[in-house]
Amino acid sequence: MSSAKPVKLWQTIGKIADFLLPNSCLQCQQVMRSDDQPPFCKACSSTLPLLMNGCAQCAVPLSGEHREQLICGQCQKAPPAFEQTTCFRPYSKPFSGWIAKYKYEKHLPTGLALSNDFLNQHSGRFLPQALIPVPLHKKRLKQRGYNQAALIAKHLSKHWEIPLLSNVAIRQKYTEQMIKLKKPEREKQITGAFKITTKIPYSHVAIVDDVMTSGATANELAKMLKKSGVAEVSVIVLCRAV
Ligand SMILES: [Zn+2]
Ligand SMILES: [Zn+2]
Repeated sequence: MSSAKPVKLWQTIGKIADFLLPNSCLQCQQVMRSDDQPPFCKACSSTLPLLMNGCAQCAVPLSGEHREQLICGQCQKAPPAFEQTTCFRPYSKPFSGWIAKYKYEKHLPTGLALSNDFLNQHSGRFLPQALIPVPLHKKRLKQRGYNQAALIAKHLSKHWEIPLLSNVAIRQKYTEQMIKLKKPEREKQITGAFKITTKIPYSHVAIVDDVMTSGATANELAKMLKKSGVAEVSVIVLCRAV
């Protein structure tokens, strides 16, 4: 299940896009000035939605009476198997549109741009020791041609200079697109979906995915990682459903 080919393809497409559209803003397409931080120009950057007051564990925005707490009611009631989630953007417009473009229209430069946006927001502190992208079932990988989570993880791993563990987890159970399912159905579908294939020589790893919706996928993979001996599991996602 090597992702070498799609990654090469991704890099090539990225280079061509850079050549054709030298540093244009992802939102307004204007050419960026030297003090802008790609992928967004300063003007757009200040208007784009950020995920605010997120639960420390699952990043869902805390509202009303929960605002003073660090952990949301759901995580208090049924704590997920991961310790924390890092995410800066809500899975709503315009980010949901860019994710769709990246994931379903095979527009890989958009994925690269969103990964750079994530890095711009990140302090670079408290990094995990290694990154594990959420694996795709081989049938889904064949349909899509690339694993969208693996390409994000690869970019972050290169930037942070930490190992990328692409093959330690496999998806052994094929699940239908979970996007339309409610949380209990998602949990049922995802149970037993992952298998850890090798011993992981790190105590703190981060699961990487494009979007967190109910958190069921990350929770199931985190459970398996914990079972295999990893002490601390973080989650890194570009967007969080709110
Ligand atoms: Zn702009
Ligand atoms: Zn939570």
